[in-house]
Amino acid sequence: MNVMNLRDEFPILSRELYGRKLVYLDNSATTQTPDSVVKAITDGYTRTKANVHRGVHTLSQEATELQERARRRVAEFINASSHEEIIFTRGTTEALNLVASSMGGMVLGEGDELILTVMEHHSNIVPWQLLQARKGFRIRVVPVTPSGELDMDVYRSLFNDRTRLVSVCHASNVLGTVNPVASMIAEAHAHGVPVVVDGAQAVPHMPVDVRALDADFYAFSAHKMYGPTGIGVLYGKREWLEKMPPYQGGGEMIETVSFEKTTFAELPFKFEAGTPDFVGIAALTHAIDFMERVGVQAIHDHEQELLAYTTRRLLEEIPGIRIFGTAPGKCAIISFLVGHEHHYDMGMLLDKLGIAVRTGHHCAQPLMHAFGVEGMVRASFAVYNTIHECDAFVDALKRVSAMLG
Ligand code: PLP
Repeated sequence: MNVMNLRDEFPILSRELYGRKLVYLDNSATTQTPDSVVKAITDGYTRTKANVHRGVHTLSQEATELQERARRRVAEFINASSHEEIIFTRGTTEALNLVASSMGGMVLGEGDELILTVMEHHSNIVPWQLLQARKGFRIRVVPVTPSGELDMDVYRSLFNDRTRLVSVCHASNVLGTVNPVASMIAEAHAHGVPVVVDGAQAVPHMPVDVRALDADFYAFSAHKMYGPTGIGVLYGKREWLEKMPPYQGGGEMIETVSFEKTTFAELPFKFEAGTPDFVGIAALTHAIDFMERVGVQAIHDHEQELLAYTTRRLLEEIPGIRIFGTAPGKCAIISFLVGHEHHYDMGMLLDKLGIAVRTGHHCAQPLMHAFGVEGMVRASFAVYNTIHECDAFVDALKRVSAMLG
């Protein structure tokens, strides 16, 4: 893969900060966007902007076709059985809120149990807690081992006749751990329990096949996979989506409305109230085209090379570094602390050297508590990062640790 050619498609990567070349290593928070996606957004506003599913006029039909083409493209990309199982949302967060509110509200009642894991992003904790306050079920939590892997013995032991649902991330946004979701789903299904998967950190980095996983629900965000912001996807098995009540009410999601009785639209529109971000949705097609043009496996392999190289250099050259998450096969995320230095100070100083990394709790406070820390520094990689940038990062961190130490 010629990364240098790829980088030309991302104008932001040639920015300079404080007189240095930007090294963007905050890809788990959001990836940068290639020209083709930006052009699709511009075209959406300058050529085809009209509300979708509402007009007989040509522009509306074109906009509708672009949105529905994106739905078919997403379905193919994750191997859903049908585009009707693809619901567009604002992001992973809204997708998980939708499942919790609609499906969770249906299956979880007082005395029931939901299984989560300690490595979940707040987006896969708080929606369930909001529901818990109304429904009074119990949340059981799978802990992690010191290497940052789920304790599968505990997971298996948590199932009982009150277990109604499991919700788990495919890959951790802090540890990089790729959870064995296929076997976790098989275990849950053996107990008759459906599984929701938060795929926000998996879809950008590895091939995902929702049918091979047998996931009941699978959520992810476009902005973390070279796509536009404000667009997310919820995949749900038709058998579930058909049974679930709508999440929000409004235009688009109805069949007929009267004050006596309102009936709802067919899938997937039953779950898409109001005017969607049809421009962004259409642009998601181009993000998928980008990923497939490069090759999802090639993206994965390249990021793994950067991960192995950077990890080796960090361990050899930064005294006192502690890397959180050392599971084999983890995705290209390195969360760390150095000695007693504060994560925020390190992040600030790295920024002054042109290196963009994340600091803080990474929206995973329970996981921070499990490791006994308040925050970490996180470097996360994408397909356009280079070995040269990994060197720049390690060299900058050496300087920063020397300055602080
Ligand atoms: N889940 C995981 C694992 C994440 O990493 C993130 C974002 O960082 C989210 C959920 C929330 O995604 P969004 O903010 O796009 O809704």
